[in-house]
Amino acid sequence: MDEFELIRRYFTRATSSNVRLGIGDDAALLDVIDTLAISTDALIEGHHFFSGVDPEALGHKALAVNLSDLAAMGATPLAFTLALGLPPARAADDAWLSAFAGGLYALAESFGCALIGGDTTASPVVMVTITVMGTVPAERAMKRSDARVGDDIYVSGRLGDASLALKKIRQGTALTPSLRASLERPTPRVALGVALRGIARAAIDISDGLTGDLPHILNASHVGASIFLEKLPCVAEARWHHVLAGGDDYELCFTAAPEQAWAVEQAAKQAQVTVTRVGTIDAEPGCRWLLHGEAQAFDLQGFNHFSV
Ligand code: ADP
Ligand code: MG
Repeated sequence: MDEFELIRRYFTRATSSNVRLGIGDDAALLDVIDTLAISTDALIEGHHFFSGVDPEALGHKALAVNLSDLAAMGATPLAFTLALGLPPARAADDAWLSAFAGGLYALAESFGCALIGGDTTASPVVMVTITVMGTVPAERAMKRSDARVGDDIYVSGRLGDASLALKKIRQGTALTPSLRASLERPTPRVALGVALRGIARAAIDISDGLTGDLPHILNASHVGASIFLEKLPCVAEARWHHVLAGGDDYELCFTAAPEQAWAVEQAAKQAQVTVTRVGTIDAEPGCRWLLHGEAQAFDLQGFNHFSV
């Protein structure tokens, strides 16, 4: 099977109405009237995922991590491209490619996000690079630089699940399907991102843990924060390093003025996602991690130092 047959067989399906020209020419043609939000993420075998990972889950996750970036901007998904590097054995593996395409398209179709092009090349390991495009009214996009002193800080969903799942898989311990899904099939918070437009100020998706990602908002906005550790939503079993620094959660962390609290609640209801207020934006630079009001000495890079 040559490259063109592979593309035709696995990666060519119906597209949406904004797509004037999809796969098959030198470039796709998209009709756009709004501001475009564009983001790219690459997943490399052996680095971001295990070689033996379920290909259907890989297809899902490769797109999910990109959609999560759009969600953090408040953008509505429009279309994506797929650059695929495949070792020869994978390029000839119908079961693997079908499952990968199945996972990818199931998520894409649920968000009306069309695959409009890409590149397919031989490679020593599997490499999946997706560029996703979405639309958002420019003045309502949630930028990292938009947090203000006095804002409340919220997170969506639950933190630490993905890293707890990874630990259990590594240890060979049993885990529930829903905990496994948090790692392998994360739900990008697109509906929440869109619902928060014009309500939230700054937002970021938590892919590197709160300790890794919150500082991006603080630095870009030239503010500080206090986080109330006891409020962080997590399962009882999770430890602080899972909740704060585990990564791979793909939840949203966002800020909003206190007078928007009711609107935030309504947005969460509309998106059918829980959101929890976990802190406030302060003028004092840096981040204070408070447990029942007491400052905890916590190394932002660290995974230990801190256990309960
Ligand atoms: P070119 O040589 O002009 O770069 P290619 O031969 O790489 O074109 O690709 C042919 C067509 O197939 C293009 O429209 C391209 O966007 C699309 N395509 C290639 N690889 C993929 C892929 N992995 N997924 C989706 N579309 C792809
Ligand atoms: Mg090409």
